[in-house]
Amino acid sequence: MTSLMIDQFSCRQDNFGVILHDPLTGETASIDAPDGGVIARRLEQAGWELTHLLVTHHHPDHVEGIAALTEAWSPEVIGPSAEAGKIAGLTRTLSDGDTFEFAGRIVKIISTPGHTAGHICFYIADEDLLFAGDTLFALGCGRLFEGSPEDMFGSLARLGELPDATRVYCGHEYTQSNARFALTVDPDNQALAERAKQINDMRAEGLPTLPTTIGFEKRTNPFMRTGDQSIRKHLGLEAASDVAVFAELRRRKDSF
Ligand code: ZN
Ligand code: FE
Repeated sequence: MTSLMIDQFSCRQDNFGVILHDPLTGETASIDAPDGGVIARRLEQAGWELTHLLVTHHHPDHVEGIAALTEAWSPEVIGPSAEAGKIAGLTRTLSDGDTFEFAGRIVKIISTPGHTAGHICFYIADEDLLFAGDTLFALGCGRLFEGSPEDMFGSLARLGELPDATRVYCGHEYTQSNARFALTVDPDNQALAERAKQINDMRAEGLPTLPTTIGFEKRTNPFMRTGDQSIRKHLGLEAASDVAVFAELRRRKDSF
């Protein structure tokens, strides 16, 4: 099995587009459709035909390109059952635990409510690949527009069970501001301090800070480190539940 080619690029304000391509079968998937024009140009330049469009959630900056891409290529458009009524153009809806095949690989749906009620992530175990949409970001997580802290904490906990080596692609380049916040709640974390420095260097050169990995996030992302004693101490929540620590982190980040 040849390995999948992955084209990650920035578009709109701070969104990432990601295109997956299998040279053997020619199958090609776009993760979300933030900008139909930009995605179409990249496909044309590469000479790839879009066969799949994988939609994580209903927000405009993830679905606006569906119509244009469908008109050009008629891909299978796969999205969350729970948001079927909010996303026009889906040809197939899936729920937690469902799987489908892309280029001979099994893609598994992981339901991750919190940012939106029906948000899903796409996981390809064979490739150690996760497409996390707006659930997990490098050093951060999505805002709770439609879910509770319990929902999002549970969603991040599930992603945290994936192998450390899992490469994580996310919907946005928010890493630098996430790092600034993370340092305020986890200032004694050496791995975080080093990472924050690298991130500043990468952004100064205009480089993307993604993909990240699950292992990396578990060591440095405060939203995945709610059990850490040093973070708890900084928040004055030594004896609180993990969900309470998570909720306080999210509350502080919302007004950071
Ligand atoms: Zn969103
Ligand atoms: Fe988004």
